[in-house]
Amino acid sequence: MAFRITARRLAARVPAAAVSNPRIDGHQKHSRIRRRWDRDADMDQVDPAHPARPAPVAATEPRNDWTREQIAAIYNEPLMELVHQASTIHRRFHNPAEVQLCTLMNIKTGGCTEDCKYCAQSTRYQKGTGLAAKKVESVESVLEAARVARDNGSTRFCMGAAWRDMRGRKNSLQNIAAMVRGVRDLGMEACVTLGMIDAHQARELKEAGLTAYNHNVDTSREFYPSVISTRTYDERLQTLGHVRDAGIHVCSGGILGLGEETKDRVGLLHTVSTLPSHPESFPVNALVPIKGTPLGDREPLAFTEMLRTVATARVLMPSTIVRIAAGRKTMSEEKQALCFMAGANAIFTGEKMLTTECNGYDEDKEMFDRWGLEPMKSFEKSPKPVA
Ligand code: SF4
Repeated sequence: MAFRITARRLAARVPAAAVSNPRIDGHQKHSRIRRRWDRDADMDQVDPAHPARPAPVAATEPRNDWTREQIAAIYNEPLMELVHQASTIHRRFHNPAEVQLCTLMNIKTGGCTEDCKYCAQSTRYQKGTGLAAKKVESVESVLEAARVARDNGSTRFCMGAAWRDMRGRKNSLQNIAAMVRGVRDLGMEACVTLGMIDAHQARELKEAGLTAYNHNVDTSREFYPSVISTRTYDERLQTLGHVRDAGIHVCSGGILGLGEETKDRVGLLHTVSTLPSHPESFPVNALVPIKGTPLGDREPLAFTEMLRTVATARVLMPSTIVRIAAGRKTMSEEKQALCFMAGANAIFTGEKMLTTECNGYDEDKEMFDRWGLEPMKSFEKSPKPVA
């Protein structure tokens, strides 16, 4: 739909504070008005069939002032239309042929004191899952796995430890810093997921050369307490703040199929898309039910919800890397291709994803060949974190 704005309408949009507040200088005033004007301009492009729907398809830069209503309107669009819009935006912000290959290694399996209901690594479900806790992997064994991943085309190596937090783990942090340095020396991006960290620990990881820190918010704020009771949503956001402040890329996403409703998937998307800066990476996981955990018998979520989440994430966070994470093993190649079409541009590849199966390197190479995809090069798609 063509967009027109009159001077009178523009004047009506100028925030009163920008006009009357003497503390706002001319330049600030202009940029505030401009930002507001740009945002409203986008919002004026509405589909007559869906008046509540904004047209963020015209976006040329990320914004983080989304409302839940706007996100719900996008999420609930006719699916083919949503995929088309996401695909259009994806092409403006990314090379659509590029997909990042990332390999995840469990550097400390099991024995976690948290109670995440989906996780086999919690001590609370150990009786049912039979998963034994192991010691932390050696630096050498981790770097050997990273070398294999690199030789198979992975450009990001992610190391996960089943911990609540890093308190009292000074030696472990030093070991992990050595792993991070080693991964960087291999020419790869380094990512870790170690539970909650404080500002000091974040700075140490930054000094070691860490590229990204993964800490998922998992679901909406409202649904979160029915999945995890041992740490709060705000504690998660606090860790993300420390990571961001240290200048490390934030990787934060969610898990679908936990029993949440559409409004919770919208809530998850609202949380991440309204952070002070968008996460550099947004992993979309589908629950892999593990026998012995409280969610071990859950029915799989409809694929269309996964696709809607991927596409909506692409629309809301156009610069972010949208990652298909756990659960990809159960998706056909055609379903994965639809996700790439809708803006997904990263996958985990290798043998394992923490405790669940992952698509192997060769399988993914063949899929890339069939669909004309190519691995993203290291460090080429990472936008600078906003301070
Ligand atoms: S998801 Fe992480 S924090 Fe939660 S129980 Fe598993 S290892 Fe622990």
